[in-house]
Amino acid sequence: MTYNEQNIFARILRGELPAIKVYEDDRTLAFMDIMPQAEGHTLVIPKTAAVTLLDLPAEDAAYTIQIVQKVARAIEKALDKKGIILMQLSGEEAGQTVPHVHFHLIPESLHQLRQHAGQMGDQEHIKRLAEKIKAAIASE
Ligand code: 5GP
Repeated sequence: MTYNEQNIFARILRGELPAIKVYEDDRTLAFMDIMPQAEGHTLVIPKTAAVTLLDLPAEDAAYTIQIVQKVARAIEKALDKKGIILMQLSGEEAGQTVPHVHFHLIPESLHQLRQHAGQMGDQEHIKRLAEKIKAAIASE
């Protein structure tokens, strides 16, 4: 699928738009979802320009999943949560709204989720959660 360099996550990766980051290395970035479906909703993205999981080279997918695990562990620890949803929407037909491949981590029950990309969260509160998650990653 053709990659649009102007998508929001590409702009976040280039530093053109702000994001509340919890982890970054040379291949991936993890940051808080601006419209969380539950407290602690975090996104993990590879830096590779790929729209869907199916466009992502297998080795980038494998590496990103390691970071998904790292961030998921930190979320559970930092927010004292048990259980986490890993969601990945590939393609508009599946409901994908931002065309850069990403993994959602949501520490909540499937039955308690708020609407997808529904409502802006309290960004100050989200920043405080991010600080806790960052600290948990640093202590791993
Ligand atoms: P998708 O529908 O593509 O699977 O998920 C896109 C996610 O990105 C949604 O959960 C939505 O709330 C989130 N999102 C949309 N725009 C922004 C933004 O500008 N910054 C951040 N941090 N998240 C965003």
